[in-house]
Amino acid sequence: MTLIEQSATELLGLLKRREVSSRELTGAYLDQIDAHDQQIHAFLRTDRDRALQQADLIDRRRAQGESLGSLGGLPVAVKDVLCTRGAVTSCASKMLENYVPPYDATPIARLKEADAVILGKTNMDEFAMGGSCENSAFGPTRNPWDTERIPGGSSGGAAASLAASMTPLSIGTDTGGSIRQPASHCGVVGLKPTYGRVSRYGLIAFASSLDAVGPLARTAEDVALLLGVIAGHDARDSTSIVQPVGDYRAATRRPLEGLRLGVVSEHFGEGLDPEVAQTVRDAIDLFKDLGATVREIAMPHSQYAISAYYIIAPSEASSNLARYDGAHYGMRAPEAEWRDGGAEENPLVQMYRSTRAEGFGAEVKRRIMLGTYALSAGYYDAYYLKALKVRRLIAQDYHDAFEQVDLIVGPVTPSPAFKLGDKSEDPLSMYLVDLYTVGANLAGIPAISLPCGFSSDRLPIGIQLQGAALSEELLLQAAGAYQGQTTWHSQRPELA
Ligand code: GLN
Repeated sequence: MTLIEQSATELLGLLKRREVSSRELTGAYLDQIDAHDQQIHAFLRTDRDRALQQADLIDRRRAQGESLGSLGGLPVAVKDVLCTRGAVTSCASKMLENYVPPYDATPIARLKEADAVILGKTNMDEFAMGGSCENSAFGPTRNPWDTERIPGGSSGGAAASLAASMTPLSIGTDTGGSIRQPASHCGVVGLKPTYGRVSRYGLIAFASSLDAVGPLARTAEDVALLLGVIAGHDARDSTSIVQPVGDYRAATRRPLEGLRLGVVSEHFGEGLDPEVAQTVRDAIDLFKDLGATVREIAMPHSQYAISAYYIIAPSEASSNLARYDGAHYGMRAPEAEWRDGGAEENPLVQMYRSTRAEGFGAEVKRRIMLGTYALSAGYYDAYYLKALKVRRLIAQDYHDAFEQVDLIVGPVTPSPAFKLGDKSEDPLSMYLVDLYTVGANLAGIPAISLPCGFSSDRLPIGIQLQGAALSEELLLQAAGAYQGQTTWHSQRPELA
């Protein structure tokens, strides 16, 4: 295994023993990015000088015997939805193409405090709306396992950068599956934490009641390491959880005993690719070998999850995205291009209209229209309020399930990665791939995606574990135990 292919925890050991410097390590990842990112396009931006400067500073402090933060010189890639002070944060949108935030998002500030080196900002679907990374205004990311295929979305760059050994750690966000789906398609681990476990301060909002920031990496232990850094209470996010953060890394090494797993039979029914179904079943059998018991559980409202999600998420998005008006920040259409809506029209309205027409991509506009419609007088009760009631029922299903089992296990996505362009003309088919992931966001619970095998085309397949609120330690314990018995996570694609 080459240096850049090692796990973050192994690399941390090398850094601590001074067998490698942060500069060497950071340089090696930047070289890998230079060599392969033309093809993959996992990154929207890197800043070699700034990253190497950060690394040098950390190396110097280590040489002087200073005690360093828990990431002590490890490089991290960050999804371009999190504000980074002094560095462009575009959300993969033309609207924010030149936006330079004056502050760091809390997860970024915590990375810096932990002495991580920020490698760059990763590609994503515009404003995190999408499941394939094709909605980036700056071109799609490609799956390192097959560059004709999507990496999953919306944190496609985050997952692809890991699969292509361009970083040992990545930060993503998950509103309806955007950490877990790309993790599954790229053969890496991704954890969506409990709502409120990681601060949303400085996260560019998509759907505020669903948005979660979380870690992606190649092993459960690395995910645990990163979660331990970014999790924890933050007074700047009013939904932030006060409870102390667990010892996630220790959890990944704890032996698994008497784990009670629940399976939702409808999740193995219509629409699930047979290879995915078989691979996930095999993984469940391995959990049985590790002493787990498996039982069927009922989730009677899970069939309504997609419908509820695609009312609630666009509704919140339509409100959150109202701020991009060409006046506050972000782009403004040049005056010469303002579209005239009629003789009497106020130029301010012309400016709004032209800026939003030009600045947003097609999917973002679709969400704004769906959301505005669902929230409008007369439809509010029929759509938005109804969706909120369904959301409550789904949360109740989970609550009941977790009285009987510790974790719910099943697929992450209905099929392995599809080809670029396959679903672009059909938004509904794109929305349906979120079938297994949106429930966790609606209920606010944590969930993890783990590599559990490959399709006959050698595309990665993931398994999802979902747990009750604040069960991150248990999820990571199960993930660690599974990875102790399997090698799926240590396989790498061959890059051209
Ligand atoms: N695919 C889902 C959507 O498009 C989820 C996206 C996300 O989690 N950010 O809304």
